[in-house]
Amino acid sequence: MIVSETEVVIVGGGAAGIAAARRLTDAGVDCLIVEARDRLGGRAWTAEVGGHPVDLGCGWLHSADRNPWCGIAQAQGRGIDRTPPPWTRPAISIGFSPDEQAAFRAAMNDFYQRVDELADAEPDRAATACLDPNNRWNGLIGAVGSYVTGADIDCVSVRDLARYEDSGVNYRVAAGYGTVIAAHAAEVRVALNCPVRRIDHSGRRVSVETSEGTISAASVIVTLPSTVLAEERVLFTPKLLDKTDAALGLPLGLADKLFLSLDGAEEFDADSRLFGHLDRRETATYHMRPFGRPLIEVYFGGSFAHELEAGGEAAFVEFALSELTGLLGSDFARRVKPVGLHAWGTDPFARGSYSSALPGKAESRAVLAAPVDGRLFFAGEACSRHDFSTAHGAYLTGIAAAEQVIKARK
Ligand SMILES: Cc1cc2nc3c(=O)[nH]c(=O)nc-3n(C[C@H](O)[C@H](O)[C@H](O)COP(=O)(O)OP(=O)(O)OC[C@H]3O[C@@H](n4cnc5c(N)ncnc54)[C@H](O)[C@@H]3O)c2cc1C
Repeated sequence: MIVSETEVVIVGGGAAGIAAARRLTDAGVDCLIVEARDRLGGRAWTAEVGGHPVDLGCGWLHSADRNPWCGIAQAQGRGIDRTPPPWTRPAISIGFSPDEQAAFRAAMNDFYQRVDELADAEPDRAATACLDPNNRWNGLIGAVGSYVTGADIDCVSVRDLARYEDSGVNYRVAAGYGTVIAAHAAEVRVALNCPVRRIDHSGRRVSVETSEGTISAASVIVTLPSTVLAEERVLFTPKLLDKTDAALGLPLGLADKLFLSLDGAEEFDADSRLFGHLDRRETATYHMRPFGRPLIEVYFGGSFAHELEAGGEAAFVEFALSELTGLLGSDFARRVKPVGLHAWGTDPFARGSYSSALPGKAESRAVLAAPVDGRLFFAGEACSRHDFSTAHGAYLTGIAAAEQVIKARK
């Protein structure tokens, strides 16, 4: 253990923990990030895949015109890529004609209009209430909904979905979003490979028990993913039942990315998109040549991604190949090779990809974010009311927690 005492322990070194630690370090507050993994970033993770820096977790700087990571990336000297994302442009028309795409867009817009209309209706309902029962596009709305929230729409609160705010401006960083986020922790004190097991707040100081020993702190910022909190993988003494309950209402949905290398990639436009099946939730989308690279990023979401995780990488690859060869011919299988996948659902330090509120549980975000006794503070994307499920939402909650700590010291 590198220290037995510090003023503030930050549990978890993802976007929220790094933002909090950097803010405290800059303010001269003695602090330490305690991180279970052998790397920083959490669900922000850029890895070398097929010879390219690829984001296995967050990749898009959503709401980029107000996203603090944008300025941080620029200050780090990283180039910002402003290519509009594939979901804002027509998809490849193979298997999905322009007329069908227009009809699907109209159905999706109707769905979101009903989400807004039902946002304040009592009781809060599952987002399936916003579907037109006879619409032919309901399967695909469910699939795209699972990419957006990570969850099947029958498990998503309409109120929570309506509260999500997005400016519609989306950028990327070629060096990787994960690279930017991890680099922001330069000059912050960090203990890696150091899972926290218990946070004992029964005494005058808070004791943080880790695999490497116990650290005594005046206050603690907890940035654990909501599912990790809900499973009580880190125990609080005394128990914090309202936090466990709030976290249970905000499970992480699942989104997984499979990367395939692609021979003869020039046949496809850079950053174009291909849809798989159009009539069901159990399908994937194919982002062709992200950044112009000879890769395909295949996106899976919701319970379908969970099912595939149970079958391992082979199940993802087999499914993707069946859809791709169905659209592009059987020879296409020879042009692609799996080069990267991370199964976020079985990752013990994430247990999913991003949070969404269960029906009736939208207020759980505020409960999760509330400080306890002026010395336990909570941050992480699930604590954000309007920017949840994103890396910038995580950042903003981390800064808010650090400001609460600074205020409580005065
Ligand atoms: C596939 C995928 C695609 C995504 N796409 C986007 C996107 O395009 N844009 C976007 O903005 N967001 C996206 N996200 C979501 C984004 O990555 C997250 O919202 C954000 O990174 C969460 O940050 P956080 O700090 O709240 O949590 P985390 O990053 O999960 O940080 C929590 C940290 O706690 C650590 N930890 C867990 N247990 C313990 C323990 N016992 N002791 C100590 N440490 C522990 C974890 O290892 C982790 O580092 C995506 C996520 C995934 C998985």
